[in-house]
Amino acid sequence: HEPVCECNPCYSGSDCSKLSSDCAANAGSGDPYFLEPFWMKHAASSAVLVSGWHRMGYSYSDGTYISELLVQYIRKLHETAGNAVTEGKYIIFGGGSTQLLSAAVYALSPNSSVSPAKVVATAPYYSVYRTQTQFFNSRDFSYEGDTTLWKNISKNDNTRFIEFVTSPNNPDGKLTKGLVQGSNVKTIYDRAYYWPHFTAIPSPADEDLMVFTISKLTGHAGTRFGWAIIKDEEVYEKMLDYVGLNTMGISREAQLRALKLFDVAVEGEGREIFEFGYTTMRDRWMRLKQVLSKSSRFSLQKLSSQYCSFFKRDRDPTPAYAWVKCERQQDKNCNDVLVAAGINGRQGSVYSADNRYVRLSLIRSQDDFEILINKLKTLVAKDQ
Ligand code: PMP
Repeated sequence: HEPVCECNPCYSGSDCSKLSSDCAANAGSGDPYFLEPFWMKHAASSAVLVSGWHRMGYSYSDGTYISELLVQYIRKLHETAGNAVTEGKYIIFGGGSTQLLSAAVYALSPNSSVSPAKVVATAPYYSVYRTQTQFFNSRDFSYEGDTTLWKNISKNDNTRFIEFVTSPNNPDGKLTKGLVQGSNVKTIYDRAYYWPHFTAIPSPADEDLMVFTISKLTGHAGTRFGWAIIKDEEVYEKMLDYVGLNTMGISREAQLRALKLFDVAVEGEGREIFEFGYTTMRDRWMRLKQVLSKSSRFSLQKLSSQYCSFFKRDRDPTPAYAWVKCERQQDKNCNDVLVAAGINGRQGSVYSADNRYVRLSLIRSQDDFEILINKLKTLVAKDQ
């Protein structure tokens, strides 16, 4: 049988080529559909079939919840991308990296309600750091806002800080570093976007606690699979306790699917997925820049080309998101301006930033991107 394909909701017709003119551009969520064509090309080799009797038990034969073979694939992927040092480090799995962000806050907090850890991040930042820390309210840690509130803290201050650093950053794609100075600062490096698809890789990341996710590497956000690379054994054990108590590890099916996808990703020299990701994202960024270069009303974040150890040359920026600013005095709510033009992004305040900013997702499907570019062209042309 011919597979039955569904049209993107903005298209109709037997071959889905008829674009409906009243359809808004979906540039909201970070669903990474841009990688769909890669997986269509590798449809057969990436498919998983699981028999009803397969792996019904709680744990693997070594009694753990972690597939050792999958750990080996993860180490190999990092070696190929050259984006993280894994030697001599522990690796733990999570239900998406989302679960590991919370596990890391738990593991880095002191066992003391007398001086709870202060959890901080630098705006614009991914809002889950705040919402999750507040939701899992504990006597051992509390969310204490933006790092700018703590910039005068002395190097000798021994308050326990837990700083979230997203590098490259969501929403603006910048390679960032921790900012809090004290003597007792622990940092959770969220490396979700530290792959050649989205950024130059200046050197392998070697931080004490780094979090990665399959969502932005292969694009399988629905699999809910992430991992952390941890230097310190005690922190690793505490994170294992967290995931063990919370969900008894990660679904064995999710691990099996991840294994199959990684098996395809590491095939040959293991470069194809990164080259595909980079080429696709570069095309999108160039076209977007071109459209907005004609506008004085809207601006994009400034990113420059940079040396990349994966490509062994300077390469263009390829951020996952456009961080658009409305430059006109009267456009205080940039999202309103874009929504009126049929463009649905996410407003700056979601990232604890000014509402003069809007995040537009560039990692959705090619259809979504084409609709976005069309709407932006029309909007920019109106201002000429
Ligand atoms: N960290 C960042 C910076 C993200 O942007 C996202 C997803 N948008 C996540 C973590 C969560 O990813 P996961 O699907 O692994 O839970």
